[in-house]
Amino acid sequence: MQAAVLEEKEKLELKDIPKPIPEEGEILIEVKSCAICGTDIKVFHHGHKHIHFPRVTGHEVSGIIVALGKNVEEYQKGERVAVAPAIPCGKCYYCRRGIEAMCENLTAIGYHYDGGFAQFMKVPRLAVSNGCVNPIPENLSFQEASLAEPLACVINGQELSKTGLGDTVAIIGAGPIGCFHAELARIKGAKKVILVEISSARLEKAKFTGSDVYINSGKENLPQRVLEETKGRGADKVIVAVGSKKAQEDSLKIVAKCGILNFFGGLPKEDTIINFDSNLLHYGEFYVVGTHGSAPRHNQLALDILAAGKIDAKAYITEKFCLSEIKKGLKMAEDKKGLKIIIQP
Ligand SMILES: [Zn+2]
Ligand SMILES: [Zn+2]
Repeated sequence: MQAAVLEEKEKLELKDIPKPIPEEGEILIEVKSCAICGTDIKVFHHGHKHIHFPRVTGHEVSGIIVALGKNVEEYQKGERVAVAPAIPCGKCYYCRRGIEAMCENLTAIGYHYDGGFAQFMKVPRLAVSNGCVNPIPENLSFQEASLAEPLACVINGQELSKTGLGDTVAIIGAGPIGCFHAELARIKGAKKVILVEISSARLEKAKFTGSDVYINSGKENLPQRVLEETKGRGADKVIVAVGSKKAQEDSLKIVAKCGILNFFGGLPKEDTIINFDSNLLHYGEFYVVGTHGSAPRHNQLALDILAAGKIDAKAYITEKFCLSEIKKGLKMAEDKKGLKIIIQP
């Protein structure tokens, strides 16, 4: 089968490799869509502690089940499925407490196992038995369904942010994740959604989200503008959906008293220390949380939201490429041209 194999950092090669054979408890899917994620670009340049080369990456995957290993009873050949890449063990302290996203033995497709930038992908036994394989609702295309994974992470983030009725929510970053946050905040009952972005082109594209206020932080003073929009109080919920120290530092100044600030975007690992005026927290009595993944149930919720048409995944799909054009796709995603780029192996 054809696969884009990451041989080492920055060496991605299209190769013919053996088609995987599903063992007991495993599933083989023919990949129909694998969306490019920001972390695919990070991994391409810098590798990842859980990736041993050579590795097929890609973790936002949907496809058709084409073969089943022994003792797989809940699935059938021909079924259309979306795969949640983060695989909880189901047994550790956190899994037992229902916090699978924090599993101590978490493994992931595209990291520990080969992922979706290939014609076929094997789904490991624990992923099959722990609810990572979700049937795609009839009215969703493979491309739309492959966006369930990033949306799942956004749903997990807003559970932790406790977004709810009447909230004013400020989101910094209007990439695909920021746009999902803006739309989900509205679904959860936010009264006012403020979307902040440093690139004028991205901000312009983000207008489909129906946010109430768009702030260009490249031209306007971010803390000052958010305070103006919130009668000086700041936003009840602030979500930083970019990996930027400046954005994190600014965000501390725009949380309302007793609000919740979420560091959703991670910082590059060599530069993670920010300036934090701890008195802002002392007097503001706000909460700071972070988010970095999702559990299988968030992926199911994401598919439900997309299928119900509450968020239109089509609005997020900028371009589709075949596997041989993957480098073009990665470059386009890296240059932040548009929102989601889809690879169709
Ligand atoms: Zn992703
Ligand atoms: Zn676990």
